[in-house]
Amino acid sequence: VRIGVVAETAPGERRVALVPSHVAQLTARGLRVVCEPGAGAAAWHSDEDYRAAGAELGDPWDADVVLRVTPPSVSEVNRLSSGTVLIGFLAPATHGEELTALRKAGVHAFAVEAVPRISRAQSMDALSSQASVAGYRAALLAAERLPRFFPMLTTAAGTVPPASVLVLGAGVAGLQALATAKRLGARTTGYDVRPEVADQVRSVGATWLDLGVVAEGEGGYARELTEDERAEQQRRLTEAISDFDVVITTAQVPGRRAPTLVTAEAVRGMRPGSVVVDLAGETGGNCELSVPGEETVVHDVTICSPLNLPSECAVHASDLYSRNLMELLGLMLDDEGRLSLDTEDEILASARVTANDEEGD
Ligand code: NAD
Repeated sequence: VRIGVVAETAPGERRVALVPSHVAQLTARGLRVVCEPGAGAAAWHSDEDYRAAGAELGDPWDADVVLRVTPPSVSEVNRLSSGTVLIGFLAPATHGEELTALRKAGVHAFAVEAVPRISRAQSMDALSSQASVAGYRAALLAAERLPRFFPMLTTAAGTVPPASVLVLGAGVAGLQALATAKRLGARTTGYDVRPEVADQVRSVGATWLDLGVVAEGEGGYARELTEDERAEQQRRLTEAISDFDVVITTAQVPGRRAPTLVTAEAVRGMRPGSVVVDLAGETGGNCELSVPGEETVVHDVTICSPLNLPSECAVHASDLYSRNLMELLGLMLDDEGRLSLDTEDEILASARVTANDEEGD
């Protein structure tokens, strides 16, 4: 079996799908790895590193299994042959044209974001691994933009109180943002509509903000709020937010536009120089004033809505993602290292976005 590693082409994307240490594990098992020249360069892995790990440098598009980070363009899909396995973030909900092209081309495409969140698939959960990186970077971004210290400091020139950080949405990214802000010395508070995460919030040293709005959905996710609940939540949050120097938002509801948690009025109520970091920009943002992909200053508050924070931490984001793909690949290979796709396997069946229609439909 030949495994191909492509160079990412999306603007600003620095991650690579497979890192040299994992290439070495595959080549040690007798698999061939073909790496597009420069594929790992932005994540600080040279072509020489890949060669030393046993990879060949060349055209990865005609490999049996093609690994990547971001969704391929239609012209990239056209470089894949029928029967090829493609694994990556494929954003099936928003990339309909590419998905149709993949189906027509007879590619077996697996979207990592569709891997089910069951215990057996935890090591393959790329949404979680990348969300964790995003949460970490969000706290650093907030610390850098805030014109105040995060920690409490006692100096000869006076005592500085710690910054207060509120994280809205205490899933994978939110908990990592809380933990990181705490390590930097801030006073941290977490909020979510799933009360079961209160203990997790406390376990990373944060205070739980109880607003009395509960919205547990299916599979450990939140459900969308009703109109009344939303109004109530916004009113209570607007009151609470004025006490904080930093608000980091991570709230998502699968398949829906991100909920608005920070209204324009809430931003107006924050002290000058305060910071909002909105991680939900890709699905419309949690702050009414966010401009996805931009950093703006409105009502004297800096509002950042970065779109790809994991890419800015490309070394470890790639390491973790590469590990996720290795585990997923493990499900597709038999003991002799041959490709064997078990269509009954729950993980593969869920992740597959071109299900059993390789003839095209
Ligand atoms: P996510 O990115 O979909 O959402 C982030 C957070 O936003 C969630 O905690 C959600 O409850 C919260 N949220 C949604 N609407 C909100 C609103 N109106 N107000 C406030 N908060 C709101 O979630 P995620 O981080 O990908 O995962 C969420 C949960 O899924 C995890 O905490 C965990 O319980 C579960 N999970 C399970 C596994 C597994 O078992 N393998 C893996 C990953 C996650």
